[in-house]
Amino acid sequence: MAMAISCAATGALLAAHVLSAGQAQSMARKSPLMEPVPALTPFADAHAHFDEKDVAGGIRSALAARGRENAPMILLLMSPDTFDHPGHYEAEIILPEAKKYPGKIAVVGGGGSLNAMIIQSAATGEAGPAVQKKFKDRAERLLREGVAGFGEMTAEHFDGNTPYQYAPPDHPLFLLLADIAAEHGVPIDLHMEAVPQDMPLPAGLKSPPNPPRLHANIAAFERLLAHNPRAKIIWAHAGFDNTGYRTPELNRRLLAAHSNLYMELKADPLAKGLNYPLADGKIKPDWLQLINDFPDRFVIGSDQHYPEPHDAVQRWQEVVLLLNQLPADVRKKIGTQNIAHIYGKRVATALDMAKN
Ligand SMILES: [Zn+2]
Ligand SMILES: [Zn+2]
Repeated sequence: MAMAISCAATGALLAAHVLSAGQAQSMARKSPLMEPVPALTPFADAHAHFDEKDVAGGIRSALAARGRENAPMILLLMSPDTFDHPGHYEAEIILPEAKKYPGKIAVVGGGGSLNAMIIQSAATGEAGPAVQKKFKDRAERLLREGVAGFGEMTAEHFDGNTPYQYAPPDHPLFLLLADIAAEHGVPIDLHMEAVPQDMPLPAGLKSPPNPPRLHANIAAFERLLAHNPRAKIIWAHAGFDNTGYRTPELNRRLLAAHSNLYMELKADPLAKGLNYPLADGKIKPDWLQLINDFPDRFVIGSDQHYPEPHDAVQRWQEVVLLLNQLPADVRKKIGTQNIAHIYGKRVATALDMAKN
């Protein structure tokens, strides 16, 4: 199975050299391995990304995927980034185009500015009144411009498309962001590798660019959650674990302790990491139990990129495979109801129209 997929991926890559993306994709779909299965229940994808160098193309691709996936709404997030990284970008580059498709595309912003301010402040130690005012002004401007929430923020992010990033999750600017989010009824979407105690960088990750040691963050994360219980915080990427500590047990303990905590399910078949929720395509019993025990607290956050990369399997396909194995009533909550609750009236109304 694994080999067949990697061969298919190579085939798709070769095809992409001589054919347009669309032709390659339709060719790829002829293989039964790659035939995408849509969700049995409509779902909003709470976490996807777009090509910042071709914003209109990224939106077109996401719009076209909605039918294939049975995803009436796709939320596009800014990558969590730093000011030092030349490629960083913010919601202003996509909002004008995204606003042409209300109810279908929503934008979650702050990754390229608010997040960069937090990472910078954590590094310099400057978090005084002037820094806080600048941060609050930027957050409120993003809301006025039309973002549906704040993301993708990060407190612990390994080097990849963006540089390594760290900030304590109870940093003063994270606490301030929680207050702003609560005041405006919008959520914070947070990428944070689970680090229960200070530890060496996990094997398999390179240092540099990552640091040789990681800072404990779970206790500080709990302080953020407790700081303003009206702030809804989505811990991104449940099912994508690079430290080995994002276990169903840890997720369960935190969900039980903090009613304002939500989680996005992600399953990347090409980068499974640790504590993967599926085995041979079947949801693992401990993950199923966890989701069934907290059906109001999970949403789908595939981390899919648009346009879709030329891979044999897309991230959305794998997480839909998981979604389709959940009981129908749970699937409905995770598909659309929870996201309507988390994101509030504007998103809820749009999802209502999807008639799930
Ligand atoms: Zn992420
Ligand atoms: Zn992401």
